[in-house]
Amino acid sequence: MSGDRGGEDALVRAIRALTARAGAATGVSVGIGDDCAVLEPRAGAALLATTDLLLEDVHFRRRWAEPADIGWKALAVNLSDIAAMGGRPRWALVALACPEDTTAEEIAAFYEGALALARPHDVAVVGGDTSASPAGWLVNVTLLGESVGAPRLRSTAQPGDTLAVTGALGRSAAGLAVLERETAPAGVKAAQLADVTAAHLRPRPRVEEGAWLGAAGGVTAMMDVSDGVGIDLARLLGESAAGGRIDVERLPVDDATRAVAAALGADPIAWATGGGEDYELLLACEPAAFERLQRGLADRFGTALTAIGEVTAGTSVSWWSRGREVAVARGFEHFAGRPAASGAGA
Ligand SMILES: [Mg+2]
Repeated sequence: MSGDRGGEDALVRAIRALTARAGAATGVSVGIGDDCAVLEPRAGAALLATTDLLLEDVHFRRRWAEPADIGWKALAVNLSDIAAMGGRPRWALVALACPEDTTAEEIAAFYEGALALARPHDVAVVGGDTSASPAGWLVNVTLLGESVGAPRLRSTAQPGDTLAVTGALGRSAAGLAVLERETAPAGVKAAQLADVTAAHLRPRPRVEEGAWLGAAGGVTAMMDVSDGVGIDLARLLGESAAGGRIDVERLPVDDATRAVAAALGADPIAWATGGGEDYELLLACEPAAFERLQRGLADRFGTALTAIGEVTAGTSVSWWSRGREVAVARGFEHFAGRPAASGAGA
C-alpha cells in the first residue's frame, strides 16, 4: 500500500514542482500540499485559503442533487478543509456556471443552500462569478479563514502517535449507493436511508470540532477525510515521511451504513476506506492525549473519536484485520482512469 500514488497525487506533485520553480513566494508559510494554504500577510497573522471544484456528473448528478444541495455541499467541502487546519472560516467566494435554461429560482436556491451552511458558521459570501455553461453545472468555492493558534498540518505526525478519526466512515458512500439506484433498497428503515443520503448530499463539516482539536494540545497532525481514509491516510503519512499501521476492525462504521451495505450486498469496510466524501477529521495525536481528546469531543459536541492505529517509523502503510495484513479499497482518485460520478472530494 505504500508509495503507490495515483494520478491526482502525481498531478499535484507536478504542479507543486512547477510553482516551486517559479521562485520564492513571500508571505507563504504553507503552500500546495495541505488542506489549506497558510498565508502570512503580515508578521504573526495567519490566513487560511482553500478552494474546491464541484462538477455535474463528476461529483453529483442533477437527477438526485437539488440546487440547494449543491450549494450546501460546495461550501461544506471547503469548510471541512479549514476545519482540518483547526482554523476559523470567515469569507467565501462562490462561482457558479450553469446551463442557459437554468431558472432564476434554481440559481437562488443554489445560493440559499450555500448560505444555509455559511450562516451558522458566521461565514460571509463576499464575491464570486457566474457564467453560462455548455456542459452542466460547475461550482467553485474559495474559502478564507483565520488560524487561531498554530495551524494543524499534515506533515507533522510522529512515529508512535495514535491515529484517530471523528464520527463514522462510509456513510456518504452508502448514501451515494442509495441515490444512484432507481428504487430504495428493501429492508432498510426509512430513517436510515434518510440519514445516509443526507450524509452524502448535505455533509456537516467538523468545524467546531476542528477548532477545538487544534487548540486542545496533543494533536500532532490533522486533515479531513475527503477522498477516503485509505488514500487520505497515505497522504497524511506521506507528508509526514512516516508509516502507519491501521486496524481495519476499529474503523468506525455506523448501523445505517451497515444496514444499507447488507441490503445492497456491498462491503461497508470498502465504503469506509474507499468511499470518500465523509468530511470527518483524521488526526495523529500523542498517545497520552487520546483519551482527553476523545472525552473533550464527546462532552462538548457529542462527536465520537475513534483510535484506528498508530504512526510508525519508515514509510510503509499497512492495514490489519484479525492479525493479518489485508488490502483495502483505497479511495477516490481523479485522473486514475476511474468512471465518473463515483464520488470525489478534495
Ligand atoms: Mg482536505
